Amino acid sequence: MAQEPLVDELKLIPGLKIRLGEPLARYTSIKIGGPADYFLEVESRAALSQTLQLLDRYGVSFCLLGKGSNVLVSDLGVRGAVLHLGREFQQMEWREEDGKVLVTVGAAYPVTRLVREAVRRGYRGLEFAEGIPGSVGGALVMNAGAYGSEMEKIVDRVEGVSRKGEPVHLDRREMVFSYRDAHLPPGTIVTQVRIRLEKGKVEEARIKLRELVARRKKSQPSGYPNSGSMFRNPPGDFAGRLIEAAELKGKRIGKAEISQRHANFIVNLGGARAEDVRGLMEMARKEVKKIFGIELEPEVRLLGEWPSSSLGE
Ligand SMILES: Cc1cc2nc3c(=O)[nH]c(=O)nc-3n(C[C@H](O)[C@H](O)[C@H](O)COP(=O)(O)OP(=O)(O)OC[C@H]3O[C@@H](n4cnc5c(N)ncnc54)[C@H](O)[C@@H]3O)c2cc1C
Repeated sequence: MAQEPLVDELKLIPGLKIRLGEPLARYTSIKIGGPADYFLEVESRAALSQTLQLLDRYGVSFCLLGKGSNVLVSDLGVRGAVLHLGREFQQMEWREEDGKVLVTVGAAYPVTRLVREAVRRGYRGLEFAEGIPGSVGGALVMNAGAYGSEMEKIVDRVEGVSRKGEPVHLDRREMVFSYRDAHLPPGTIVTQVRIRLEKGKVEEARIKLRELVARRKKSQPSGYPNSGSMFRNPPGDFAGRLIEAAELKGKRIGKAEISQRHANFIVNLGGARAEDVRGLMEMARKEVKKIFGIELEPEVRLLGEWPSSSLGE
């Protein structure tokens, strides 16, 4: 429930849009999720710092939602605040320096659009990210990757804000990445990322892009909303292979289904609930453990208020 004095103070921050009890399903790629107590659309860095300071003062917890393509939001929604970055966080600036290419891009910029901008200029190194439907900030935080590359390989510098609203600057050398995790200090909000690319030929970049688009089309389900890979690949194996071998492809709970096309995807057939998706995740985890002795770890981040479960964060 929203606290009135906090709402009154939030209203005084320029560049902040406040929605109370906002349903989150429309902000997630799988189209699932209950309401956030406070949904805060932040239009500037100054507004972001002030908002975080205020939330800290009132002891209200928060999380950041990017393009919602790697999250499962509870049916009960999120207690506290959900922050969403607005227009000021969509800027992009290209620079060539001593034969290197640097692009500084706002955290809310869509990854796929950035890939296409790079390819159009003949810059190489980002093609792997074509088809990843997230924001630049989300891709950084998740160390998003595909086809043998990942954000770790191209990140140069990260700008952000701490949970208390103070500026954070991280140089690549100070950062430790691992599979699908950038290990940022807890509560850090990424506002901008500087990426280093190589100069190349436009035609070569286009050919590479076409090849990867075709590979993605072949292997991933299309048509139904989903959150991408639900589980991380265990070392030396693939979560999708294990779930398929456990004969779970096509299994349904309510309106959620383990994809017939790729067993590490769960699709929303229309009106699925977060509990349905979580039920399928638990089923996959249990069966894979029973048959192969392998513990699958969720890749998708569970947000919000959940009944206790082995999958929660
Ligand atoms: C069809 C499909 C295909 C996909 N393919 C791939 C793939 O090939 N490779 C891959 O790695 N992923 C893939 N994904 C998963 C997802 O797109 C990526 O993880 C993406 O980078 C998430 O970005 P987002 O903006 O949607 O983040 P969200 O889903 O909104 O958030 C993910 C996490 O990052 C945090 N976060 C987001 N933005 C910020 C920020 N600015 N500051 C701090 N924290 C932030 C959130 O709090 C949350 O914990 C796929 C998803 C779908 C639906």
